Formats: sequence, structure tokens, C-alpha cells
Amino acid sequence: MEEEQVIRMDLCSSGKEKPQSDQLAFGRTFTDHMFLMDYTDEKGWHDPRVVPYEPLTVDPSAMVFHYGQSVFEGMKAYLTAEGDVQLFRPQRNFKRMNHSNDRLCIPPIDEAFALKAVKQLVALEKDWIPEAEGTSLYIRPFIISTEPFLGVAPSSHYQFIIILSPVGAYYKEGINPIKIAVENDYVRTVAGGTGEAKTGGNYAASLKAQEMAEEGIAQVLWLDGVERKYIEEVGSMNVFFKINGKVVTPALNGSILEGVTRNSVIQLLKHWNVPIEERKISMDEVYQAHKEGTLEEAFGAGTAAVISPIGELVSHHEHLEINSGQTGATAKRLYDTLTGIQYGKIQDPFDWVEKVEDIRQGTLRASG
Ligand SMILES: *Cc1c(COP(=O)(O)O)cnc(C)c1O
Repeated sequence: MEEEQVIRMDLCSSGKEKPQSDQLAFGRTFTDHMFLMDYTDEKGWHDPRVVPYEPLTVDPSAMVFHYGQSVFEGMKAYLTAEGDVQLFRPQRNFKRMNHSNDRLCIPPIDEAFALKAVKQLVALEKDWIPEAEGTSLYIRPFIISTEPFLGVAPSSHYQFIIILSPVGAYYKEGINPIKIAVENDYVRTVAGGTGEAKTGGNYAASLKAQEMAEEGIAQVLWLDGVERKYIEEVGSMNVFFKINGKVVTPALNGSILEGVTRNSVIQLLKHWNVPIEERKISMDEVYQAHKEGTLEEAFGAGTAAVISPIGELVSHHEHLEINSGQTGATAKRLYDTLTGIQYGKIQDPFDWVEKVEDIRQGTLRASG
């Protein structure tokens, strides 16, 4: 289909009540509208529209319910002190979505059009972006397979949906180190599996380990699924260690999800001339560094928390304390810089920020 697509606007007459900025839980409240677009093999992606937020009508035999063919993304819109609305490297999210689509045999989306759709929806819902420090509007684009068919094959019908949720500050009283358990029994995924794709199945597979972890464990540290030796990720974040002045993060290996935050951390460290290595890193190396007193910091990186310092690692009932359980200087500097750029408080030397124009009256065009 080469004809131009216009986003149809079907707006609700009166909005819901907005929650207080200081009473926001993560992912529980949704804005007044959502974006939808359909796919069929005959028509391609078509009928992009903004409609009132409401339950979907999906056939019980829709393939997504049975075989899990779906992908999602996660990003945020930030309100600056000047009242501007900003996105952080959103192009990378849609590029990654197409990478996930490819792995799940879902037809690709037009990345530029998807970005315009996000901007149009966010601009429409601007009043839902909370103003309090550290709050934002979480953006969840996702695709589900909707063909009514109990056959194991790629679906011929899909829906691409974007919903928005105002979210509170991740850290209410300053950034707080978390306690992590090394997961020696369960694995998240393996190279050749779907670990590189952002798909719900990876999360379904991760729940058991979290449930089995002892009280007070915030997340688990995933090891590679073959040798159970090399570190992959922490919970649903990428992971970094600072050992003897050098920052190390697991190299992308086919099972690790490539985070936008991970990539930004690497670029910032390079910019600051802090040595950064992307390579295999084993749990043995971390134990050894801890024993020798060279394990300086450990932290997770992802959109929700931005930087999440690890204060303690637990494995086989052994407890490793990192940086006396305190947030390290590198983690703090990364957190302050990334959030500073996202909220427009400091200069953005990398062109990472994408402004959302006030286009509430506008219409969009794209070839699809
Ligand atoms: C989304 C995700 C991340 C973090 O990616 P960001 O783009 O930085 O938010 C890391 N690991 C997994 C498994 C994820 O799903």
C-alpha cells in the first residue's frame, strides 16, 4: 500500500479524573485515548486512529492468546520546567520494535510513522504528563497477533496499539541500592532464543525465578543459559560492573536485550573518558574482584529506573556487599546526567532529546 495514511481522530467528549502527582503507582492509570492501527496480509498496516481508551474486542481464538506472538516497547515523555514535552531517543525504540518484529515473524512497522503517532498521541494527552519531580508519562507501544486461528503459524492479522500511563518517581527518597540474587537455577533465555526481542514470553519465563527469590530480593541476576557462568542481565535491566577503575558490561550475544539506556551509558562513559568494556564477564570474575577489593560498583540500567545501583549480591547464601551498600559515584553521575538530559535541565550534547510539538489540531501523513 503506497497511499498516504492520515490518523483518524475519534476523541472522547469528557476526560477521566487525573491522579495526584504524588499518588502515582507504575502502570495502573491510563490516559483518555489510545492509538490503534490494523494489519492484514491484503491491506498491510492500515486505518491508523486515535480513539477513546477502552477494552479491546478480540476473538478468543486470536493467536496471541495461544502462541504468544507479540512484541512491546517502553519509553517515556518528560515535561521540562519550561513546559516542553520531550522524548528520549524514541527512534531507537521503534528500530528495536522492528528487530523484535523480525524475530517474532510480525510484519515491520513504518518507524517514522510510528514516531509521529506517538508524538500526536502524547501531544493530545499533554495534560496527563505529571509535573512533580521525577514523574513522567510512560509510553507502551505493542503489537498483538489477532487472527482467529488455532494453528501454529505467523498470524495474518495484527493490531499495533499505543497506550500511555502517568507514572510516579521511581526513587521517592533519592536513588537507593537494591539487593540482587544470582539466579543459579532458572535462565531467562539463551542465544538463538528470543532474548534479543522485547516479547512478553521472556517476561512470563522470568516470573518463577523472581517468585522463588528470598524476601528482600529486588531482582535476580541472570546468567547465561549454557554454562551458567557468564552474567547477562539483572531483572529486566542491562547490567554494569565497575572493577578496578574500568566499567564492564556483558557484550551483546544474541540473548541480551539491547537497552536504549545501556547504549546511552556506554556513550556517556566514552564521552567522559571512563574506560568501558563490552565483553563476557563471569560470576567468578565478580567474586574474585570482590575478594580483592576491586569491585567498586554494580548497577542496572533501563528506562523505568534509569540507573539502579546494586548494594548487595546474594548467591548460594553468600552475601557480597558492594561499595558498602551505597550508591557509587559513577552510578550517581550517570543517573544525574541521563535524567538531567531527559528533563531538559542540562545540555544534550548527543541530540538524544526529541521534542513533541503542540500539534493537537494537526493531522499526520505517512506512506504505509
Ligand atoms: C526493556 C529491557 C531492558 C532495558 O531497555 P531500555 O531500552 O534501556 O529500557 C533491558 N533488558 C530487558 C530484558 C528488557 O526487556
